Amino acid sequence: MVKQKHENYAVIGLGQFGSAICQSLVEAKQEVLAIDIDEEKVNEFTNIVTRAVIADAQDEDTMKELELGSFDHVFISIGQNIQASIMATLLTKELGAKDVICKAENENHARVLEKIGADQIVRPERDMARRIVFHQLQPNIVNYLMLNDQVTMAEVKVDNPAFIGKSLNELAVRNKYHINIIAIKTDGKVNLSPDANDKLKLNDLISVVGYTTDVNQFNSDAQ
Ligand code: ADP
Repeated sequence: MVKQKHENYAVIGLGQFGSAICQSLVEAKQEVLAIDIDEEKVNEFTNIVTRAVIADAQDEDTMKELELGSFDHVFISIGQNIQASIMATLLTKELGAKDVICKAENENHARVLEKIGADQIVRPERDMARRIVFHQLQPNIVNYLMLNDQVTMAEVKVDNPAFIGKSLNELAVRNKYHINIIAIKTDGKVNLSPDANDKLKLNDLISVVGYTTDVNQFNSDAQ
């Protein structure tokens, strides 16, 4: 069994995003301090998270008392009240938190959060919309993961007749696309060390890794 990390998290702002983060962390058996200025929101989480506190994240003394600097990860999921989001981020970073993940409402909000030291910035609605549109436009890409700003790993369904029955050697994937095929899945069976002579079959799922531009080129040619 894979051993899961056990870390402590603070989640500030229990709107839709913050609530979902709390639920996911609890399901993953992590320690969670949940904070919101709204008593009703906090009450909803009292019996769910490790500790739930009513507090104003803009109040420096309260943030100090809650020792926000000592958490492994702090989520700031205040969206609509941008001033509160900015102040909470600033205070949490000043208190020494190492990993502060903030939800931004728009591009300007994200820019400010980045300037004041947010370690990660997410825009859940935009990011999810992009993902859905991407999958809609590229139905052959079953999985897609950007490993960093240059390298991508993708699982692609092959259905271009020009690829079917051809070996990796014949397709010259390394020379033409500069990518590596790391696995081929045929009828549910995975071949983890594909050979240059292995031939692709219709509906094979192939896992490729390479520079994002090369992977995208291969993806569009494979369809
Ligand atoms: P979502 O879109 O994820 O629902 P919202 O911006 O609507 O996000 O919700 C943010 C949450 O943050 C609300 O529950 C709100 O009560 C809380 N909140 C707003 N200001 C503060 C503050 N100064 N301190 C703590 N919590 C706050």
